Order: sequence, then structure tokens, then C-alpha cells
Amino acid sequence: MISVARSVTAVCALGAALAACGTAGTPGPARPDHTKPAASPSATRPPELAPGPGGLAQVFEHGPRTLGKTVALTFDADMTADQGPRAAAGEHFDNPDLIGTLRALKVPATIFMTGRWAEQYPAQARSLGHDPQFEVANHSYSHYAFTADCYGLPTVAPDQVRGEVERAYAAIRKAGVPHPLPYFRFPGGCYDREALRALSGVGVTAVQWDVVSGDAFATDADAVVRDVLDGVKPGSVVVMHCTRSAAPTTERVVRTVVPQLRKQGYRFVKVSELIGETNGHR
Ligand SMILES: [Zn+2]
Repeated sequence: MISVARSVTAVCALGAALAACGTAGTPGPARPDHTKPAASPSATRPPELAPGPGGLAQVFEHGPRTLGKTVALTFDADMTADQGPRAAAGEHFDNPDLIGTLRALKVPATIFMTGRWAEQYPAQARSLGHDPQFEVANHSYSHYAFTADCYGLPTVAPDQVRGEVERAYAAIRKAGVPHPLPYFRFPGGCYDREALRALSGVGVTAVQWDVVSGDAFATDADAVVRDVLDGVKPGSVVVMHCTRSAAPTTERVVRTVVPQLRKQGYRFVKVSELIGETNGHR
């Protein structure tokens, strides 16, 4: 099938970026394990969007609207490269209660993890990476912006984009996540044509969203709940955060939103399932 061949090529491109794709004897940790033959459904090759015109990385925002009520909750594990001292001083860039709630409610979810977060919380990264309920994807190493003027984040130059993505995969794998997905979310969600061009050839699908939960720096959980419930449509991707200090209401929001959406008939899925549905729907 064309889509399978496309995935092989894309995964191989990713592998080439990380290690020598197809080269025998490549050291284990840097090698993308999902290129191995599938041993179980969870190890099958994840679906990706084929590059667009000019080889530009495609941006996935939501799944099909007409294939039933599915919704993907996504959680960004933000930590910028210069926040180590704040973490050492006790600030929580993680949110174990939120992950516990997702597990208790049996909500599959996609975590976009920064490499810096994986370095700070390796046990949690590893636990997420080994739990089939979750998939771990890439949110850059340093969470610096890929465009100028992005929420005050420091910016990286276009020639550093590939390095940011590769360094994040290396850190995520080193923390113990065996199969990080070939999906990438731009820090701050900020991108332009130049950023997409810089990302092309890296072998990742860019993943945005169509529903902004507004959980970042929110103090009113009810307002976030309303934004999510008002915004979700079949195939939606909701952006949230699993960084307690920057998104303190998210665990409460999830506890409220999940049963309500289920009551409306929604089924929670991971981003990979929506991308797979999108490919099959063309
Ligand atoms: Zn982020």
C-alpha cells in the first residue's frame, strides 16, 4: 500500500536523522526501534502524513469530521532549557496527578514531550513510554520558538531546527521511551513556511490542534472546561499541558470534561489513530 511505503520512507528519513538508517551495528539507544518488525499492535509503524508540495512538512490539525465521535486529548510537557534552576528550587514542571487521572479514567492520550522535560523527569517519561495507553511525541529539546515573536520565548535559528528535534528524540529515548512517535509539535505552536521548510526531511509530521483548551496559566477550571466542551467536534485534537506550574487546573478540567464528552458519545483516541483515519479517508 502506498501509505505503508510512505511510512517506511518517512521513518527511514527520521532514522537517518538520528542514526544511519539501515546501517548494521548502529548503537541501540539512537536507533528508532519502531523500524523493527512489529511484535505487537502497539509496535506497529505509526501513520504519518505524506509531505506536501515542495516536500514541506504537513501540519495535522484534526481528524475526519464524518467518521464518528472521536477526540484526541494532547498534553504538552513543557520545560524550557533554562528552567533547570527553577525545577531544582521546587517548581513542578510535571503533573503526576494528571497522568494518574488519565490512567484512572482510561483516557488514551498523546504527550508532546520536550527533551529537557525528559531529562528532568526520566522515571515519568519512561513510565509514559511503556504504557500503551499513551504515546510520546516530540515537542523540541529546549522549547524555544521556531519563529520570532512567539509568546516571548527565546528563538532558535532555522539551521538549528533539525538539531532541536534530534536532540529531543535522543533525550526522550535516553530517559527510557522506546518508541517515540514521529510527530512534532512546535513550541508555542508557532510556525511559518520557513519553519516547515526546516522541518522537511526530518521525517516528522507536524501536529497542531483545532481546540485550544486555554489551560496555560488558567486559574478558572470552569472556563477551561467550557472552552473544551464548546470547541470539540468529531475528530478534534485538544491542546492541553501536563506542566503543573504553568497549567494548574488541567487535572480538574480532565476530571470534568472526560465524563461529559463520553456522555455525548465521544471516544478518546490518540493522535496516531486520527492520522490513520485521515490517511484512510482520502
Ligand atoms: Zn509547549
